[in-house]
Amino acid sequence: MAEVIVDVPVPGVDRVFHYLVPETLAARVRVGQRVLVPFGGRRVEGYVVGFAAETNVSRLKPLLAIRSEDPFFDTDGLALAQWLCERYLCLRVEALRCLAPPGATGPEAVRARLVPGWRLTADEATARAAMEELLARAPKQAAVLALLLQAAAGGDTRPLPAAEIRRRTGAPSSSLKALAQRGLVQPEAVRIEREPAAPRVHEPAAPLTLTAEQEAALAAITSARREGDLRPVLLQGVTGSGKTEIYLRLVAETLAAGRGALVLVPEIALTPQTFARFSARFPGQVAVLHSGLGAGERFDQWERVARGHAPIVVGARSAVFAPVRDLGLVIVDEEHETSYKQEESPRYHAREVALERARRAGALCVLGSATPSLESYVQARAGRFRLVRLTRRVDGRELPPVEVVDMRAEMVAGNRSIFSRRLTEALRECLARGRQAVLFLNRRGFSQFMLCRECGHVVRCPDCAVSYTYHAAPTEHLRCHYCDGLHPVPARCPQCGGPYLRPFGAGTQRVETLVQELFPHARVRRMDLDTTARKGSHTALFEAVRRGDVDVIVGTQMVAKGLDFPNVTLVGVVAADSTLHVPDFRAAERTFQLLTQVGGRAGRGADPGRVIVQTYQPNHYSIVAARAYDDEGFYRREAAYRQAGGYPPFTALVRILISGPEGVVAEAAKAVAQAVRQCAVGVDVTVSGPAPAPLQRLRGRERWHVIIKGQGDGPRQVAMAAREMWRPLLGRGGVSVAIDVDPVSLL
Ligand SMILES: [Zn+2]
Ligand SMILES: [Zn+2]
Ligand SMILES: [Zn+2]
Repeated sequence: MAEVIVDVPVPGVDRVFHYLVPETLAARVRVGQRVLVPFGGRRVEGYVVGFAAETNVSRLKPLLAIRSEDPFFDTDGLALAQWLCERYLCLRVEALRCLAPPGATGPEAVRARLVPGWRLTADEATARAAMEELLARAPKQAAVLALLLQAAAGGDTRPLPAAEIRRRTGAPSSSLKALAQRGLVQPEAVRIEREPAAPRVHEPAAPLTLTAEQEAALAAITSARREGDLRPVLLQGVTGSGKTEIYLRLVAETLAAGRGALVLVPEIALTPQTFARFSARFPGQVAVLHSGLGAGERFDQWERVARGHAPIVVGARSAVFAPVRDLGLVIVDEEHETSYKQEESPRYHAREVALERARRAGALCVLGSATPSLESYVQARAGRFRLVRLTRRVDGRELPPVEVVDMRAEMVAGNRSIFSRRLTEALRECLARGRQAVLFLNRRGFSQFMLCRECGHVVRCPDCAVSYTYHAAPTEHLRCHYCDGLHPVPARCPQCGGPYLRPFGAGTQRVETLVQELFPHARVRRMDLDTTARKGSHTALFEAVRRGDVDVIVGTQMVAKGLDFPNVTLVGVVAADSTLHVPDFRAAERTFQLLTQVGGRAGRGADPGRVIVQTYQPNHYSIVAARAYDDEGFYRREAAYRQAGGYPPFTALVRILISGPEGVVAEAAKAVAQAVRQCAVGVDVTVSGPAPAPLQRLRGRERWHVIIKGQGDGPRQVAMAAREMWRPLLGRGGVSVAIDVDPVSLL
């Protein structure tokens, strides 16, 4: 009998069910197939995960049908899914769905696209004779035969789509019917592959000449690999140091060895160049998988990979599960990017899955970044990853200096604007020379914190070492969104005693308005989630900037991605503080990464760029380090902070997120926290909360969280045990509870 996981994502049925395999299906059923089964009085789909000889179920029901003849996964895939379940505490079926082709499940499943077609049935001589004979009497029928003969001569054994025959010969369907009656052709459905449009980026197809440094880095990676050292490689290279060329060389080498390669990038829609470079270098061998494709296109791309037609996959997060055959290389570009973390169940991190997949496949895993995550950096320091560095840009130019403006001094000098005098002057000069400027802000509409304008001090929770969030209502107060501690708003700065302690935060819209007021003739464009939510608007804005129709771009971090405009000579970070004091333990890491990345973006053309960072805390280690491009210094300090605060990667973290309609969540969160504390008795973990999440309201739902910290497996074990206790709460009043293992942020 077959073991089946039903595609019903409910904890209560998260186990294997047994079904009889009827005679008619016995020869065809295989592990990995999607099947139809009777389940609790209805019919549902599910996945075959194995076969059993015995069962204690008395009256077995039969499998009804096979929905996908070709299996979606093999036993290796099954093992990976099992690992995913244990690692991220997700349901079995949620893990299996990751392995299925995109869009192939659910009510509107995408299938291979079949269109009507025709194939030649007569042998070549007969067909040719018939064609000669028809030439005068029925020229369109003759043309059809000529076309089919031509296709066959080219070695193409597939039928030709009817639409194509009609387009190329003008023959109506009556012509084909006439030919069919004579036994010359017959109708047959033909599979169409929906090809995603090639991005309009022109990239060199030939390998570039490597710099000495690239040469050395490549040699370091390949020689170790040849000697059987399969430790993951952390390729740390400054922006513009030519990491992609190294990836291309590694892929070529992998292909030459007859194996497949998987290349992950944070978001293809924002980095079309990467895909373009791979497909130019390896024409016809690259499949692309990302959310910007239509469902049909994604399905076909997935099939190309599964059938072994495309040995290289370039894709975003979910492509980490692509069925690449004989995987020999996994590359995770920009490995520090948070978009690799899936924010719905299974809440996996694609970097972690990539490492695990590579380990299981005996493949090499290469993590690339200019600013690696602290996680990877610590692994490299400990020798578990091999660190390979690229310290110079391929164009030989120096990185632009990062100028830091102390906003406290502006305040003392009587300048209360959000623009320092230096940034204002730089903008004026930039515009006068007909160049473009980019002004960065932190994410839009984020919570505010209390910042002293005189000394730069930010009021933080002493227990959690994160900023208090400022609340204006019902009465002014500060709240810690980790432990739910409340604090009155101090009248004066606790550090310097000054009176200028104020809530801090400015949106892109306000900055746009202010720039426009300062420079009425400048063409200012805002670029944030509001203005780029529509599909394609991001690209349109990029095009406008490239054409020179925009003078000043005001944007959130997202514009840092894929930003590569030669005419941008000024990059201004309006308020580094708003990134630095986000109530999240990764705030300093994000700040360092952001500042380093924007530094690498300025002045890519002939003109040297200028980078100006405004801050009230010019002496914060993340800013000092970014200014000096001193990553060693940054990681040392950041590691110390994380270790002292009990944060990852030195502590395992599980966050339990309780969300639901306004008003009912706090009670549910209390019950969840109680369950967690009960299960934590005798286990070496600490439990914080329940507390409202820093983003307390998101898409109409209220959010609270409980945080479990500890070593090794502790937090996950506690969460798993507590889950059984809080299950009765689920669904009541629309409340849902999610377990997030190793969250990338606690917002
Ligand atoms: Zn706290
Ligand atoms: Zn102060
Ligand atoms: Zn709040």
